[in-house]
Amino acid sequence: LSCLAGGDSGSENIVVAVRVRPLSATELAEGKRSCCDVLTRNTLVIRKGADPGAYLRSQKGSANEYSFDAVFPPDAGQSEVYEGTAKPHISELLEGINVTVFAYGATGAGKTHTMMGSERVVGVRAGDEPTEVSGIVPQSLVELFRLLTARANIGSGQEDEAETWSVRVGYLQVYNEQIMDLLSDSSKPLKINEDPAKGVVVVAGLAEMEVTSSEEVLDLLRQGNANRRTEATGANQVSSRSHAVLQVVVTRTLENAVSGNRSVRESKLSLIDLAGSERASATNNRGEQLRQGANINKSLLSLANCINALAGNRRRRGGKGPGNVKYRDSKLTHLLKASLEGRCRLVMIANVNPSHVFFDDSHNTLKYANRAKNIKVDPRTTESVREASRLLTDKEAKMAKDYQALK
Ligand code: ADP
Ligand code: MG
Repeated sequence: LSCLAGGDSGSENIVVAVRVRPLSATELAEGKRSCCDVLTRNTLVIRKGADPGAYLRSQKGSANEYSFDAVFPPDAGQSEVYEGTAKPHISELLEGINVTVFAYGATGAGKTHTMMGSERVVGVRAGDEPTEVSGIVPQSLVELFRLLTARANIGSGQEDEAETWSVRVGYLQVYNEQIMDLLSDSSKPLKINEDPAKGVVVVAGLAEMEVTSSEEVLDLLRQGNANRRTEATGANQVSSRSHAVLQVVVTRTLENAVSGNRSVRESKLSLIDLAGSERASATNNRGEQLRQGANINKSLLSLANCINALAGNRRRRGGKGPGNVKYRDSKLTHLLKASLEGRCRLVMIANVNPSHVFFDDSHNTLKYANRAKNIKVDPRTTESVREASRLLTDKEAKMAKDYQALK
């Protein structure tokens, strides 16, 4: 997993991991068989029909072998998945780097379990004990606040500099191409505003709550998920057709007591549970341009089109360049513009249901993830300074002095 550590400069590939979930006791009782075999920490094979147990590496047959930055087998626990995907990048947030983690896959493949966790974890066999239940979102937040507490104790390392950190949280869903704020009572769809000069995309009017602990964020998430459930169409329909986006903005304020300079730097962690990919599957082959069908999720198709364009363009260097990537075609891709353009650490987790009856969906997910491997990112260019240096007011200067005296 050396690529997960990242380099100091230049472009790197996005991180693509695959997680194969276990078949549940019910699925096993119904006679479902697994069509996916995890071969190594980086490779897996998927085959149609035949018993994957019979697969031999020397006998490829109809099997399709894929390799990724990480492949998590059905018995991989929540912390193993977190540690192999998001964890190495949480500390990068404190360096001003934006981080986006998203879960892709068909409904039932394990996206929500991977991102949020499950209250009831279904084991490989009936009677298996549920172990850890927390997904990437809670584990990342615990780590973020742990790092911030440690930093607050150490300080910036500069004698005359006072460093303070704050965290804001927004939670939204994209449903039927409308952005809804999950932390507000208003059901008015929100608009995306783009600052063309800075290339910054913001959701106008999105509620952002100041938080000081991971528990507070999880409370807000619970509140947001409850808002998601009150939609008329029913919980499952909404959650399988909508994209849930949690945005955690980390702000560092640096105040120099001597020069009076003050600088503010922001970085954003986006944690995304995408809509089920099964509706996109039917048309999703060989990287062709995807067209919107009656039931197809427009944002998911746009994401696939952007990924195809980005992966393809980067392969043919000197080609058309990423300029023709149509981020504005959908709400989701517009929202993720900065992440997809590469000014961000990008981690994709492709979730797979191994049941042989879902071979097509799972195979499509793997093909999609395989294409995404070609996307390049250059996360070191992300630094976004919100406010240029300015002189401190008398009051702020006094506060900075008091702060120094305290230390
Ligand atoms: P999705 O969000 O992709 O529709 P879910 O995360 O809701 O799928 O998973 C479907 C079901 O499978 C849930 O009951 C969930 O608890 C279970 N499940 C998913 N992944 C795992 C896993 N790795 N281990 C055990 N159970 C899992
Ligand atoms: Mg889900």
